[in-house]
Amino acid sequence: MRIRVDEIPDSGRFLRFQWGQEQLSPFMTPEDPFEIVLPKPLDVRIELQKQPDHVKVSGSVTGSVQVTCHRCLAPFLFPLEENIDLVMVREESLPQQDETELEEEELEFDFFDGEVIEMEHLVAEQVFLALPVKILCAQSCRGICPGCGRNLNDDPCTCSKETRSSFLTQLEEVKSKLPPQNRE
Ligand SMILES: [Zn+2]
Ligand SMILES: [Zn+2]
Repeated sequence: MRIRVDEIPDSGRFLRFQWGQEQLSPFMTPEDPFEIVLPKPLDVRIELQKQPDHVKVSGSVTGSVQVTCHRCLAPFLFPLEENIDLVMVREESLPQQDETELEEEELEFDFFDGEVIEMEHLVAEQVFLALPVKILCAQSCRGICPGCGRNLNDDPCTCSKETRSSFLTQLEEVKSKLPPQNRE
């Protein structure tokens, strides 16, 4: 869906649409090691307000995304409730000091060609931004046994403790002692 800025009325434009697997797929690349799937389309609400030098976009993306736990590799549903609040600025029209101002106001901003806003792209960005860098099914996820490959959340395995306290496990232990923002 492409929205022409000159077609946005002064009173703003409201959109509500479903955004499903078909819309997501073009944004996935075969190199992505972890698959993201939409079993049900996401519900998107967007309000566009035209300003002299930018377009204000607000709204929400809600639903759930099927992701893969980076530690145990099991798929699970990640609930998505992302508020959209960003400023779309024409690519070349952002002088350096404006950028600082926008950041000071803690606004997210995004660039576009000044004429057309690509809705699919905008939603895809919101979805990817909403996902953590390291996706875990649970903070306490035990991961996969490096010895036998079993998902340790399901079953303890029969490998010796020694195999399990591999380098990876030790690394996780070190990480778990760090403050949360340093864990990734
Ligand atoms: Zn897991
Ligand atoms: Zn094992």
